[in-house]
Amino acid sequence: MRISVIGCGYLGAVHAACMAKLGHDVVGIDVDENKIADLAAGHAPFFEPGLENLLLEVQETGRLTFTSDMSRAHGSDVHFICVGTPQKKGENAADMTYVDAATQALLPYLHSGDLVVGKSTVPVGTAARLAEMVQAHEPGAHLAWNPEFLREGHAVKDTLTPDRFVYGVPGGSEDHAAVAVLDEVYATPLGMGTQRLVADYATAELVKAAANSFLATKISFINAMAEVCEATGADVTVLADAIGLDDRIGRKFLNAGIGFGGGCLPKDIRAFMARAGELGADQALTFLREVDAINMRRRSRTVELARDLCGGTLMGQRITVLGAAFKPDSDDVRDSPALSIAAQLQLQGAVVTVSDPQSLGNAARRFPELNYVANTAEALNNADAVLLLTEWKEYRDLDPFETGTLVKQMRILDGRNVLDLQKWRAAGWSIRGIGRP
Ligand code: NAD
Repeated sequence: MRISVIGCGYLGAVHAACMAKLGHDVVGIDVDENKIADLAAGHAPFFEPGLENLLLEVQETGRLTFTSDMSRAHGSDVHFICVGTPQKKGENAADMTYVDAATQALLPYLHSGDLVVGKSTVPVGTAARLAEMVQAHEPGAHLAWNPEFLREGHAVKDTLTPDRFVYGVPGGSEDHAAVAVLDEVYATPLGMGTQRLVADYATAELVKAAANSFLATKISFINAMAEVCEATGADVTVLADAIGLDDRIGRKFLNAGIGFGGGCLPKDIRAFMARAGELGADQALTFLREVDAINMRRRSRTVELARDLCGGTLMGQRITVLGAAFKPDSDDVRDSPALSIAAQLQLQGAVVTVSDPQSLGNAARRFPELNYVANTAEALNNADAVLLLTEWKEYRDLDPFETGTLVKQMRILDGRNVLDLQKWRAAGWSIRGIGRP
C-alpha cells in the first residue's frame, strides 16, 4: 500500500520505517526540517535501539522517503497522523494544535477512498471531530483511530509485532471499509497472530487513556507501598515479589523507585482528568490526582534521602547522578524524574554532575545549568555521593569495588532498586534503596 506518516518523532519515525519494512511504500512527513534531513540520510534523529539499522535497510529498497512537503501525501491510500499532543502550558489538558494543524494541512491532498488514521494519544471525542473535518472536505474519505502502545526502547519490535491492534471506526462496525484497509496494512503481524479489536471511536480513544492510567496507577501503588515500607522498616522489593506471584496482580510494573516520567504517562493521565472534567465525569478519575501526587512526591523524597545520605546537608556536596533519560534505552528526557531530581539537588546547594549513555544532549538543552559528563568513570571521580536514577544496564552492572576507587565517599542511593544492597555494603558502601531498610 502507499502510506504517508505525518509527524516523524519517537512514534512516527519508527512507524514509517516499520511500515516500509512490512512492504509498503511510505513517505514520512514532518515540519521539522532538521529531523527530515537526518531521517532522509538514514540517521535516527533520536536514540531508539534498532531504528538506525532499520532505516538504512528499508531506504535501500526505495520504499521509504522523508520530506517536509505535505503535498507528497498526495497519492497515498492511508495517512497516519503521528504528531505530538503535549500538555498545554499551565493546564492539564492536551494541546491539540499539532493534530489539528496536521489534519488541516492534509485535507487538500485527500481523495475519495483515502483513509486517515489517527495514532496520536488524544482526548476522547477527537476522532469524531476530525472525521467531520475530513468528510466535509472529501466525503469519500474515512477516518479511523488506531491508538499506539509502543514502548520507547522497544519501539521497533512493538511496532512490527504489537500485542494488539485497536481500530476505532464509526459505530465500531467490523464491516466498515476502514477495517479491511487496516487489515491490509497490518497483514503481516495479523498473520503472525496479533489480536485486533474493532471498537467505536470513543472506546478506541479511551483504551489508550485507560491503559496508561492503569500502568501509572500500578507504579504509584507500589511507590505508595514503598512509603509505608520506609515508615516501618519493611522491604518493598520483597513485598512486590510476594504480591506479584499472584497472577491476578502480576510482578510487572511493580518496581518501586523514583517514579514515572517521559512524554506519555504524566501528560496522558493529566489530559484524561481534564477531559473527564469537561464531560462531567471528573469524580471517576479523582484517583488519578493521587496517582500523580504519589509520583511527584517520589522526586522530593529522593532529594531528602540524598540529603540524609550526605549527612544532613546538600550544601557543597559533589553529587554524581547516573542517568538523565526517563528510562533506559531511550534518550528521551521529557518530564524525566532523574533530571528533575538532579535540578532540585543543584538548587539546594549540591554540585551536581549528570551522566547518561545517550541523553546528555537533550538533557543539556532542557537543564543547561547542570554539569554533564559522558564518561561514567570521569563523572564518578571524586564524588561525595552517587545517585543511580535511570537503570541503564551499564549502571546496574557497576562493580562496587571498582566504583569505590573512583569516588571520594562511598555513598550511593539506588533510585531504581536494581543494585544488590548486600554486595555493595560488603564492599564498604553506605547504600540506600527506595522503600528498603
Ligand atoms: P514527538 O514530539 O517525538 O514527535 C512529534 C512530531 O510531530 C515532531 O517531530 C514534530 O515536528 C511533528 N509535527 C508537529 N506538527 C506537525 C505538523 N503539523 N505536520 C507534520 N509534523 C508535525 O512525539 P511522540 O513521542 O512521537 O508522540 C507523538 C504522539 O504519539 C503523542 O500523541 C504521544 O502521546 C503518542 N505516543 C507516543 C509514544 C512514545 O513512546 N513516544 C507511545 C505511544 C503514543
